[in-house]
Amino acid sequence: MALNLTVNKLSFKYDGTQVLKDVDMEVKLGEMLSIVGPNGSGKSTLLKCINRILKTQQNTVLIDGEDTSKLNLKALSRIMGYVPQSSTNTFPFTVFDIVLMGRKPYIHWSLSERDTEIVAEMLDYIGIGDLALRHFNELSGGEQQKVIIARALAQQPQFLLLDEPTSSLDIKHQLEILCILKSLAKTKHCSVIVAMHDLNLASRFSDRMLMLKKGCIFTVGTPDTVLTEENIESVYGIKTQVTNSILGSPQVTPLISEFNGIKPLKTPSKIETIDSRA
Ligand code: ADP
Repeated sequence: MALNLTVNKLSFKYDGTQVLKDVDMEVKLGEMLSIVGPNGSGKSTLLKCINRILKTQQNTVLIDGEDTSKLNLKALSRIMGYVPQSSTNTFPFTVFDIVLMGRKPYIHWSLSERDTEIVAEMLDYIGIGDLALRHFNELSGGEQQKVIIARALAQQPQFLLLDEPTSSLDIKHQLEILCILKSLAKTKHCSVIVAMHDLNLASRFSDRMLMLKKGCIFTVGTPDTVLTEENIESVYGIKTQVTNSILGSPQVTPLISEFNGIKPLKTPSKIETIDSRA
């Protein structure tokens, strides 16, 4: 059972453009760590580098001290599960079949009874057992997201990486998904690393938050140390008020746009039409 994931001086360039620079981080078993930062700050790229979808230098991502670049894809998939940003991908399969795909790293020649048992367990755990025989394409966005998470869990990963898993969901589905992730971490089934836009949800559910600015770690720590008005202004360039919620986690309220130097759009001047020119 792997306990620690360490990232050492991770840097990454797309076609010569530096996107991540010297990122150091550590994730311990049972922890829920959220990665926050403005659009383009490198959250998705960081997750893809950790998961080795994008290749980085040797010895940048270690699990219990072992270099993951030395692991083959199958071995890595048994340790790390990855849920990409929700896309418009469609799968002409049933929910059961899709979750079964998560067993691929374990299947040698044929399916075992244990593989199908694990799929059923994951569907129940996520609370979508009743959808098992439905077609993925006929499900709502929230249901589809749960299926993709169940597929990643069927890999039985020790580190689960998710890229904005709640961004297109309503508030109830957002809470359901984040409660599932929190409970996975709390029961030490796996550690959860999640890129998130919503600072308030991240604050409420994360043990620690890592805030990126232009590809570098700006700060990392518990939500109350990361989510300060000063840090948010430095990283996002807006003024906010941070207060403690009744649940104890800091909550961020952006101040109105005039205070943030965002000028309202000018009313467009009257559009000249052929008629008005005549
Ligand atoms: P975030 O997830 O924080 O929005 P990303 O990791 O998606 O940030 O992107 C970080 C930077 O890398 C951005 O400037 C983005 O335009 C660039 N980028 C992302 N993907 C690619 C790609 N496939 N090719 C070139 N540049 C990319």
